[in-house]
Amino acid sequence: MNVLFVAAEVAPYVKTGGLADVAGALPAALRGAGHDVRVVMPRYRTLREQGVPVTGPIGASFLQVGLRSEEQRIWRAAESETPVYFLDIPAAFERAAIYGEADDARRFILFARGVMDCLQHLREVDGWQPDVVHCHDWHAALVINYLKSYYAYTFGHMATVLTIHNLAYQGQVHPDVAALAGLADTGLLENAMGPGIANSFNFLARGILFADLVNTVSPTYAREILTTEYGERLDGLLRSKGDRVVGILNGIDTTLYDPMTDRHIIAPYRAGDVTGKAACKVALQQLCGLAVDPARPVLGIVSRLVEQKGLDLLHAIMPWLLRETDAQIVVLGSGQPYLQEAFLRHGEQAGDRVAVRIGFDAALAQKIYAGSDAFLMPSRFEPCGLGQLIALRYGSVPIVRATGGLVDTVREGLDGNGFVFHRYDPKDFGDAIWRALQCYRDPASWAVVRERGMREDHSWATAARQYEGVYTWARQVIGRG
Ligand code: ADP
Repeated sequence: MNVLFVAAEVAPYVKTGGLADVAGALPAALRGAGHDVRVVMPRYRTLREQGVPVTGPIGASFLQVGLRSEEQRIWRAAESETPVYFLDIPAAFERAAIYGEADDARRFILFARGVMDCLQHLREVDGWQPDVVHCHDWHAALVINYLKSYYAYTFGHMATVLTIHNLAYQGQVHPDVAALAGLADTGLLENAMGPGIANSFNFLARGILFADLVNTVSPTYAREILTTEYGERLDGLLRSKGDRVVGILNGIDTTLYDPMTDRHIIAPYRAGDVTGKAACKVALQQLCGLAVDPARPVLGIVSRLVEQKGLDLLHAIMPWLLRETDAQIVVLGSGQPYLQEAFLRHGEQAGDRVAVRIGFDAALAQKIYAGSDAFLMPSRFEPCGLGQLIALRYGSVPIVRATGGLVDTVREGLDGNGFVFHRYDPKDFGDAIWRALQCYRDPASWAVVRERGMREDHSWATAARQYEGVYTWARQVIGRG
């Protein structure tokens, strides 16, 4: 099958979260299975600044959005096995930020329109067209709306799949944006979808409505988003898709995340021989200014510091943790200022017990996965979660809340691979840490739990097979299977 991935971030080019890992690794896994998968993403300024090698421009056009016409050039990544197309639209992407700009709506309308031109270009110049257009998150969702409306005559034979990496981010904006997107005639759609999204323009809702198939990144989250508790006001719309909402667990790039070859860590190790891990732990303690002590448990966190990740629970139990246990805590993250400040304060108050680094630092992240004994993910909700998968591989035993993908990947007990709590409650989180620390005190049991996690296979091969099935099904939905 020919498949075009559309995503706003793709590793290794631009990454702010798990989406980039998926959009980077899944195409390669599918290509490995014999499919012609290509990727299209914005050409942000940082790509140019990092000197990412490109060939082209291979195409150029003007995109009319509102009263203005904007330039677009299409470039192709020069050193990538997977063909990756960069849409260079200076009006949208020639700036420092990736997201969070006041004109994000206009930027991603331009992106979606740019993808339409890119499809045209690939067909006319390369003689290539996708059987399936696979869009990711709200930034790419309008592509599906365009394919199923104005471009249906030209591209209606392409099946569409929308992957929701996180339902909390919808691109819900002012209803006037409908006119800007050239979709004003369908502008009443949102009103028809119910009170939650009435009087707005919702990128993701439009993608969901028009997609032949919708999937999210774990089976549990796929069920959760059909409920009002997790549905972020789109549960009704999602339920209306019937069985066309499925869950496929993400994998991780097992060559990138491999403690045997990771160049960011001081000593290699693997399941069956974790001697190197002890050295990584001491190195982490030194690096972070913690008391160097191989015997003390180190709890790691690598996370966006946002409400979703449940770090207010950790904030709440920090005094207890410092008083009642001997654990050390290393936090790497960035996000909401109040959480950053709360954790920086913990770091200042208990410098040799708690180390806090604010920022995005891929190298330090690897040192934390390798150097910590356990990894904390007390998420409020978690579509899939990559952190716990990387932690498992690095032998950092995950302590997680039972939600979304964490349910599907972490199991407690001596025949499990981690520690799990259910209620969103500081006490329950503390109890789970307590159980983990009890287990840690018994090296034989700890080794069993850790070893089991390290040996699990979370490579992309499994997910790739399931996506193949989804693509076939999506083609059947439009009568082409
Ligand atoms: P989300 O996509 O919701 O942020 P995931 O667990 O799915 O959460 O993926 C997060 C990914 O980003 C993981 O690979 C994690 O290691 C990485 N990450 C998160 N925060 C940081 C940070 N501050 N520095 C380096 N890597 C980070």
